Amino acid sequence: MEQLLVPSLPILRGRMLPLLKHCCAFGTHHLLTWGSIFQTSGREQKQIRSWSAQCSANYDRASVPEKDSPLKNLTLHDNSLLDARILYCTSPALGHNKEAHPESNKRVPAIVDALEKLELSPKHRGSQVLEIQNFNPASLDDVARVHSKSYITGLEKAMSKAADEGLILIEGTGPTYATETTFQESLLSAGAGITLVDSVVAASKLGPNPPLGFALVRPPGHHAVPRGPMGFCVFGNIAVAARYAQHQYGLKRVMIIDFDVHHGNGTSDAFYDDPDIFFLSTHQLGSYPGTGKIDEVGQGDGEGTTLNLPLPGGAGDYAMRCAFDEAIAPSAQRFKPDIILVSAGYDAHALDPLAGLQFTTGTFYMLASSIKQLAKELCGGRCIFFLEGGYNLQTLSSSVANTFRAFLDEPSLAAQLDDPAMLYEEPTRKIKEAIAKAKGIHSL
Ligand SMILES: [Zn+2]
Repeated sequence: MEQLLVPSLPILRGRMLPLLKHCCAFGTHHLLTWGSIFQTSGREQKQIRSWSAQCSANYDRASVPEKDSPLKNLTLHDNSLLDARILYCTSPALGHNKEAHPESNKRVPAIVDALEKLELSPKHRGSQVLEIQNFNPASLDDVARVHSKSYITGLEKAMSKAADEGLILIEGTGPTYATETTFQESLLSAGAGITLVDSVVAASKLGPNPPLGFALVRPPGHHAVPRGPMGFCVFGNIAVAARYAQHQYGLKRVMIIDFDVHHGNGTSDAFYDDPDIFFLSTHQLGSYPGTGKIDEVGQGDGEGTTLNLPLPGGAGDYAMRCAFDEAIAPSAQRFKPDIILVSAGYDAHALDPLAGLQFTTGTFYMLASSIKQLAKELCGGRCIFFLEGGYNLQTLSSSVANTFRAFLDEPSLAAQLDDPAMLYEEPTRKIKEAIAKAKGIHSL
């Protein structure tokens, strides 16, 4: 691998800081639209006032530093990195919300609550589990490595219209919505991933077992395409982090594993012709957005570095164990990544309302544990998870908690979290056929 360029303290760059303190200053509401892309959705002032209150509380606590302040709160000392087993950042995007929308601002707080209840939080774990707070948003340059400048500036300009309207919908995208805070909160979520790249890479220079990273962020990112938002996603958080890892640290070969129930079409689009980024997606056959067919393998120089494994409805723990052993692990072993990034969507859970796979908290534990081991074998343990989907708050939060248990090498909590009565028999013949086909296409 190339020599790593790692600062002795992990978070030293002074990135541009949007004025988050103004994020909750909702103005009067006028009927406005942004070109033909955004359409108005009616006014939701009452709801927004309540988000505004939550948003203020959040940012008072988070105290994102001003542009010219030293980043003294951001640094983790070497000893902290040596002791830590998990580093995580939260970006709940409380102002980015739409009534009755499944991608709601309750998602990250629900996870934080579950970590607390299951004694997996820093309060219970001391130096084992560290939350990095007060991290910087991504810079516009960071985001522009993935997204077109016209999209980024267009979204920024749309914020004043969102402020007037309360909320705008983006046509034909899932639907994806935006509020006045969407631009800034999305930059913060992308910044969480960048911060974790900094910290995990720094830790990997100190010892052979760096902590796992987890960006507990929203809006999610893997559907956002280079030229726009899509499928509840605004900026491709994981794609931005992948480009950053390459650019900042010379981590040339990046493997992205996406086990969200939906195809990560945005990530795929960003890297479809790139031979240095291997994108592997498992998803439910026929689910949104309809891309990710098994014969989509990349193009040009990137032919062969995209692997899609659509799974039949009802696929669950058996399917993913086979997929890991027969497709994910051998692909990673052949590709030899310098870092593994994971689009961790939890909407493949059997009780998730948006899809029809049958993962359990035990499945997510198995995936986390196996991917952790893979990263240890192949890339010095450098591995960061990014929250994508997951819309049943209870199964989302318990599944993330069980992921943390796997990161800590502690026994799975599946026996207490999963109800076997929720499951039915997996379609094993179709599962075997799909995996065999993917193996054939990719000569695994
Ligand atoms: Zn999803």
